[in-house]
Amino acid sequence: MNIHEYQAKQLLKEYGAPVSDGRVVLRAEDAKTAAGELDGPLWVVKAQIHAGGRGKGSFKEESAGDKGGVRLTKSVEEAAEEARKMLGRTLVTHQTGPEGKQVNRIYIEDGSGIEKELYLALLVDRVSSRVSFVASTEGGMDIEEVAANTPEKIVTFSVDPASGLSAFHGRRVAFALGLEGAQVKQCVQLISQLYKMFVERDMEMLEINPLIVTDKGDLKCLDAKMGFDGNALYRQKDILALRDETEEDPKELAASKFDLNYIALDGEIGCMVNGAGLAMATMDIIKLYGAEPANFLDVGGGATTEKVTEAFKIITSDPNVKGILVNIFGGIMRCDVIAEGVVAAVKEVGLQVPLVVRLEGTNVEEGKKIINESGLAVIAADDLGDAAQKIVKEVKG
Ligand code: GDP
Ligand code: MN
Repeated sequence: MNIHEYQAKQLLKEYGAPVSDGRVVLRAEDAKTAAGELDGPLWVVKAQIHAGGRGKGSFKEESAGDKGGVRLTKSVEEAAEEARKMLGRTLVTHQTGPEGKQVNRIYIEDGSGIEKELYLALLVDRVSSRVSFVASTEGGMDIEEVAANTPEKIVTFSVDPASGLSAFHGRRVAFALGLEGAQVKQCVQLISQLYKMFVERDMEMLEINPLIVTDKGDLKCLDAKMGFDGNALYRQKDILALRDETEEDPKELAASKFDLNYIALDGEIGCMVNGAGLAMATMDIIKLYGAEPANFLDVGGGATTEKVTEAFKIITSDPNVKGILVNIFGGIMRCDVIAEGVVAAVKEVGLQVPLVVRLEGTNVEEGKKIINESGLAVIAADDLGDAAQKIVKEVKG
């Protein structure tokens, strides 16, 4: 789960890390009061969406102006004006996809004078199973680009959880960032605050881009992106409270409410499969026969008719779906339950696109019987290859 920049900065502040003072604004009419509470002489007006690259982004609507989602202003009035222009408009950045994201919250921040922009991130490195630091002198820009073109400018190392973090790690980051004098001490302190927060709050990712050296020579977190481990949210109630459901894919959100393992993709064939491995194989074979999956969906072993119905509804709610492939190898999951779910769902939401069903395994005969007797226009398939070919043929002609 991700949170907004302003929420992340509030957390950083709680752990003592240096951030600017700022106010979040939800309604245009509150922008002036909010900006007036900050000192100036620079006010930064920042669109709050769960995507980076806002500074270089652009709005779909002309009325929002063409200055991107991060705007430097020189007065309270100008700050309020820019906030008003951005609220409710759709911001497109290289991370939002072409459809962009609606801006429902604005953060107005006390502007900083910048001497240098640096990059710092903490993440869980799945290879070493440790918390890793990523540091680079090339901050403010696209780190993926730095990694691709000048990988030598990125320093990474991980922390041994047995011995924990020490000042040595902070100095290592400071060296990688080219810091000097008092900044080294500030960096050591910042690294210890970030590491503590990362572990205590069950984070998956914490990115400060840019971490800046201000014109006064101090370190400051100018931007912040945080991601939390979804499996730990039960013990992070105050983090869970920061969830902004409007930022999430509505299909993935609905799936999470029914405990379905669903990931939205941008292809045209909706997939309903049991088991993550079979779901991956199904996506592969769809691609092999020349089409693209619209989603990953593992209905799991213990799916009920109700759960299958919900899954089917989620798949059909995607306007990109031009055909559906149900691929079930019944082990723990019984074919008749899937069949009942499919029939119930089709009766409820209707079937606008071709549907290929491949059933095999436990109670397969009962399952096939339910589908055949339902009178639905279902195309039966015998095995995985046959099923994939049939649905691709239906969709691509
Ligand atoms: P992002 O584009 O979504 O990553 O948003 P950031 O918060 O990283 O802001 C983008 C860029 O705007 C930064 O890299 C800075 O160059 C600039 N910026 C943001 N805040 C300030 C500020 O307080 N002062 C100045 N001078 N520039 C800022
Ligand atoms: Mn940034």
